Amino acid sequence: MTLRLHDSAAGAVRDFVPLRPGHVGVYVCGATPQGAPHLGHVRAQVAFDVLRRWLTATGHEVTLVRNVTDVDDKILARAAEEGVEWWAHAYRFEREFSAAYTALGVLPPTVEPRATGHVPEMVELIERLIARGHAYPAADGSGDVYFDVRSWPEYGSLTHQSLEDMEPAADADPRGKRDPRDFALWKGAKASEPASASWPTPWGRGRPGWHLECSAMAGRYLGERFDVHGGGLDLRFPHHENEQAQSRAAGDGFANYWLHNHFVTMAGEKMSKSLGNVLGVPALLREHRAVVLRYYLVSAHYRTPLEWSPTSLGEAEAAYSRLEGFVRRAAERLGPGTPAGAVPAAFAAAMDDDLATPAALAVLHEAARRGNQALAEGSGAALLEAHQQVRAGLAVLGLDPLGEPWVSRAGTSDAARDALDVLVRARLEERAAARAARDFATADAVRDSLKDAGIVIEDTPTGARWSLEGEQ
Ligand code: ZN
Repeated sequence: MTLRLHDSAAGAVRDFVPLRPGHVGVYVCGATPQGAPHLGHVRAQVAFDVLRRWLTATGHEVTLVRNVTDVDDKILARAAEEGVEWWAHAYRFEREFSAAYTALGVLPPTVEPRATGHVPEMVELIERLIARGHAYPAADGSGDVYFDVRSWPEYGSLTHQSLEDMEPAADADPRGKRDPRDFALWKGAKASEPASASWPTPWGRGRPGWHLECSAMAGRYLGERFDVHGGGLDLRFPHHENEQAQSRAAGDGFANYWLHNHFVTMAGEKMSKSLGNVLGVPALLREHRAVVLRYYLVSAHYRTPLEWSPTSLGEAEAAYSRLEGFVRRAAERLGPGTPAGAVPAAFAAAMDDDLATPAALAVLHEAARRGNQALAEGSGAALLEAHQQVRAGLAVLGLDPLGEPWVSRAGTSDAARDALDVLVRARLEERAAARAARDFATADAVRDSLKDAGIVIEDTPTGARWSLEGEQ
């Protein structure tokens, strides 16, 4: 069987053939750490983590590069608003992003380069573009350097647009541009910006444009041509179109396949900053198990919108618990030392079909049903086969409850929290009953005793919620 992936540049599903047999280079656009990560951010990284795990499971060695855009207009603006250094702001949120990815079981990238550490590569790339007649320093003396879109006939090919249909690039003063759609490779330093956010170049001090950063870092770690470039659908234009244009115009082959994951939506709309406040990853993880959040993200195909509703994670918890429950019961029955098995053929076929995770999960649920039947009937061989198949499939999706990171965590925080939840809920029911009977003295006594134990109760329209003091 051959893996087939949807390539945005081709606008179609294509057979996946690595440039070097057995080895796959993947570049995924990472965080611009201007604020806290929300569900939309982690959806992208979980999607490419599943691709990576499937490539690894099918015998490929994967080099995965995920960058950090640690200098950017928005980082400078947010840091200035808060009165902190831009680099401290960026690093603070970079750590929040890393924590969110780790919490969701996303494997660490092979390397995680920061834009600010790759200025020499960026300058070198600009020099090549100027030498080839595809870039020019701004005529207005601003120190900006622009990509000359009319010099590159392929411009627009990734997103299937013609130059005439494109909007002007609103990234710099158009007065210095030959064409309003020319985009900034380099941004000249401004007096209003901190001096620490600029680097010396042949065109004066300044800082990189976002698109240039990714081209330079992809080239540094993956070479002039590599297999897969991934990112969220919102990055297709202008970010990825511009990355491809500048790298190819400089003479590099750049990405062979372009993969884009769809958004998390609320009421059909892309998750924005305000929705991000609702679906911030740390807040979600206070109320739900990380493995369930990952199951929820994996349960939709990466190229379809994932519509969020308040019941989403409850449904994911129920569905994942069915698989998890079977794996644990079977492991108890089979005892330690059960050999690892292979994924079911139907699971492999689904994954090879452009990573069709909903169909792949359906195969595992069916195997778990058969396994539960084998448990009930005492059929050892059928039980072992189902157990191996479900665990192997869940491992590819990063969801094996007996694999890392979940097995290590289960002994500590998750299990302890689950136990605490049972105890606190029992007391909350006592409190609700006392309130219903207008016995407020008892209700208050329950709340006070929980408070003494460091547990804070918050009454919400859907009932009382608890959290540990200091969690908010
Ligand atoms: Zn990028």
